[in-house]
Amino acid sequence: MGQTNFRVIVVGGGPVGLSCAHALAQAGIDFIVLEQRSSFVIDAGSNLILVPMSMRVLGQLGLLEELKRVSSPLNIINRMDHRGRRLGSMKWFLYDNEYFGAYPRVISRHDLTKVLYQSLPSDTMSNLLPNKKVSDISTTTNGVCVTCKDGTSYEGSVVIGADGAHSLVRGSMRQLAIDNESSSLNEEKPFLTTYRCLWTRFPTMSGLTPGTTWETHGKNLATQLFAGVDTVVMCIYERLDEPTYDRCRYSEADEEALVGRWGHLPLTPGQALTIRDAYKSRIQSGLVNLEEGVVKHWSWNGRIVLAGDAAHKFTPSTGAGFNNGIIDVVALVNEVVREVQAARTKSLHPAAGPQKAQIVAAFKAYEALRKEPVIEGCKAAGNATALATWGNWILKFIDQYIFSIHIIQRFLSSQQASRTARTPAFDYLDSEEELVGTVPWTMPLKMKSGRTD
Ligand SMILES: Cc1cc2nc3c(=O)[nH]c(=O)nc-3n(C[C@H](O)[C@H](O)[C@H](O)COP(=O)(O)OP(=O)(O)OC[C@H]3O[C@@H](n4cnc5c(N)ncnc54)[C@H](O)[C@@H]3O)c2cc1C
Repeated sequence: MGQTNFRVIVVGGGPVGLSCAHALAQAGIDFIVLEQRSSFVIDAGSNLILVPMSMRVLGQLGLLEELKRVSSPLNIINRMDHRGRRLGSMKWFLYDNEYFGAYPRVISRHDLTKVLYQSLPSDTMSNLLPNKKVSDISTTTNGVCVTCKDGTSYEGSVVIGADGAHSLVRGSMRQLAIDNESSSLNEEKPFLTTYRCLWTRFPTMSGLTPGTTWETHGKNLATQLFAGVDTVVMCIYERLDEPTYDRCRYSEADEEALVGRWGHLPLTPGQALTIRDAYKSRIQSGLVNLEEGVVKHWSWNGRIVLAGDAAHKFTPSTGAGFNNGIIDVVALVNEVVREVQAARTKSLHPAAGPQKAQIVAAFKAYEALRKEPVIEGCKAAGNATALATWGNWILKFIDQYIFSIHIIQRFLSSQQASRTARTPAFDYLDSEEELVGTVPWTMPLKMKSGRTD
């Protein structure tokens, strides 16, 4: 028999956990979100770029207009080397607009989480619980029991682990696999770090038009600068002496040492703005390792499933992390909703849930749909970082002389566009197609009138 009170426990209230909350709320599925921080709106962290595939599904959730208000569209990417010599421009964002009818947009993590949090239906707000650091997950006959560090515990049918790269949920899955002598055993440390990133946010200065993008490329270090309306974000990618699977926490002294090594490099032409200038006028900054990899097993026994950075981690060079995380939410919740609706139709109980076998199948279908694009995305992001940091002479040559050719960019972006067009959208939500360009989406949206276009 299936369950009569189907409830999802989302661990982690970052951008992916909050997106899960929206998707579940709109599906009428009971949920709670457990977040270790004292607030869901995070006033820290780098800015992010939203690309058309995620803007489309954020539109389905009714969030796109509000997100547009607090983000800036991005245009041409201007590139130069460490000596300030121009390397030609990149037109990826222009092609995105042509193919899908939307320029990628830069937004602060603060504004993204604020919009995601504040736009949740008021009757679900009490389901979002801050100050809840999850410390243990066990499975029960009918579901899961999640225990927090403060001693409280919560029972539910399934757990979605949206708790980031150093996921406790992933660790619990591994422990369950060991205890049950299962072959579905993930690596203890699944992500390899080859680069670290110093990100800095500073006020938009004169000479930096919102929407401007600059990159500086060269041996072992590259920068990316995205100018927003009020703030600019700069990311510095530095190759580590040795790749590592270990977690590393950096201090302000480490940030200052990095700026000491590379502070003279230009972020814009003619030394108008250097790394040191940007760092000195910073509002916020952080030095983080850039883990890379895709976890082998994304779910455990129809009880626990991973999404977002808990399942895969990319370097930010192509702005793929959250953008893929929200598509995980789409693919996962679509599968779960299908099973829940079937169970409710069968049992005539409004809160019924599927049997475990159906949830196992839903989680497997989700993983099968997402694994390949995520592996491709991870590779592409790693390659972009290796190219920009001139990992060897071949990469340096390609970066300087091949990638600057617009016809090559056009070819590569059209290949990417056909992959993007296949990205799933929510199949249980009625919505209008807001992103229309020259490349049609493979999966049409369910329109408000019930028709598909
Ligand atoms: C410098 C930089 C630039 C980036 N730029 C982009 C970009 O342009 N575009 C893009 O798409 N992505 C970008 N990313 C990646 C993006 O930030 C991540 O992919 C995204 O934040 C992942 O969201 P998440 O919710 O899965 O994980 P996280 O953002 O890590 O959120 C996890 C949440 O879980 C909570 N949590 C963790 N453990 C527990 C626990 N035990 N109990 C309860 N709560 C817990 C955390 O407090 C946190 O709120 C960038 C990343 C970096 C570092």
